[in-house]
Amino acid sequence: MPASTLDSLVSLCKRRGFIFPGSEIYGGLANTWDYGPLGAELKNRVKREWWKTFIHKRPDMVGLDASILMNKKVWEASGHISAFSDPLVECKKCKQRFRGDKLLEPKIGVEAAAILKLEQVQKMLQAEKISCPSCGSKDWTEAKKFNLMFKTHQGVIEDAAALVYLRPETAQGIFVNFKGIVDTMRKRLPFGVGQIGKAFRNEITPGNFTFRTREFEQMEIEYFFDPERTEWKKLFEEWKKQSWSFITDVIGIDAKHLRLRDHEKDELSHYSKGTTDIEFQFPFGWGELCAAVAYRTDFDLTKHEEVSGQDLHYTDPDDPTRKIIPHVMEPSFGTDRIVLAALLDAYTEEKLPNDETRVVMKLHPNIAPIDIAILPLSKKEHLINKAQELYKKIVQGTDLVVDFDITGSIGKRYRRQDEIGTPKCITVDFGTLGEDDKQGAKDTVTIRDRDTLIQERLTIAELASKLKVAG
Ligand code: ATP
Repeated sequence: MPASTLDSLVSLCKRRGFIFPGSEIYGGLANTWDYGPLGAELKNRVKREWWKTFIHKRPDMVGLDASILMNKKVWEASGHISAFSDPLVECKKCKQRFRGDKLLEPKIGVEAAAILKLEQVQKMLQAEKISCPSCGSKDWTEAKKFNLMFKTHQGVIEDAAALVYLRPETAQGIFVNFKGIVDTMRKRLPFGVGQIGKAFRNEITPGNFTFRTREFEQMEIEYFFDPERTEWKKLFEEWKKQSWSFITDVIGIDAKHLRLRDHEKDELSHYSKGTTDIEFQFPFGWGELCAAVAYRTDFDLTKHEEVSGQDLHYTDPDDPTRKIIPHVMEPSFGTDRIVLAALLDAYTEEKLPNDETRVVMKLHPNIAPIDIAILPLSKKEHLINKAQELYKKIVQGTDLVVDFDITGSIGKRYRRQDEIGTPKCITVDFGTLGEDDKQGAKDTVTIRDRDTLIQERLTIAELASKLKVAG
């Protein structure tokens, strides 16, 4: 994918109302982005498909919506206060700060950069002759640990006792509610809990559009199991497949632009027995799209039991004398990165037979922000009325998202719908009204396919049955 694709996409996103720069009328706030009407629709669809796939369609899963602000002991137990940090280096000349491992990745690779010890980072930057991206100097400070958690205060007194963190991941909310879920939902192992929500990380070097931001959304699952009854390797492989299938079959990202990457032994956290990421070929190189699965053993629940003093054991219903701390598989998806990858994957510039170039977003129909556009051929009032009748019929009789567009020539309106990825356009013309046989028979409309450009003439009744319009 050429590097210029990202610039073309950023510009399309702004021009068409997918993603705007944050706080723009005030000069912006670096690396913040706001999802516009179409972006919000697209992102909601990604979340809806995820919820449907992993929560609604599985009897062994339930959903959760935990708070962003949590007791700070949660982060003590999870290890985030002591260890959730990145190596921060400063350019001695221009004083700009960067993430040392990320500067090294293009030279030494993701795996090697991830396992560097703090004291090795500066030496490696010097050895690899890495220049400061801002001023070109090669003079780096020693790396320091920089904790990525955002801090704030709860209540009116801003002292240490009131300190709280914005959650850096949604997962801990699941562990903290494990006992409540077991006590109320009558789930037996193995079962999983999924949740979608915002997470915050004070990233040292955000950038590449929405790839790395300080506020983002995650869709995470903790799948609890008894390691004596369920073989972890088998479960690990199953989750790998399910995560891959969500990204390719449900979201529709082309497998050619994806790969699985197993974390090296040295790269794994001490408690993890295996992690596999799904990576996408971004215009700036391969990057993590999501963690397809991470096997976190019983680390989290054990730590929460220790720090909270609460009993978080699970009692085996078949043998009440057997009490265990379940182990977990954790598939962890970043909503914003999936949206970005889906947009990049869909972005297509095509030469048409008349030599014009059209930009078309070949988004999977599951996530396209608009399902159908209704386009009256001209602005004549009775034609618009007829088209509006059809619009109302579809909107009221289905769950489809329908756009009604009368602005500009029909060609321009098709181009706009192509650029926003609308899979089907329906044109209402004078044939539909019974006023022009050459355009088509009375009560027929044209339906145009975004990708093939094939136009089909259907009766309104046939269209209604194709779209499963109720009533
Ligand atoms: P990275 O190595 O890119 O910093 P990570 O390994 O720290 O990512 P995880 O902690 O595994 O990320 O988080 C799960 C998912 O959350 C990631 O796969 C990604 O999709 C998303 N994510 C993490 N950090 C960010 C961020 N700063 N901006 C946008 N999405 C993010």
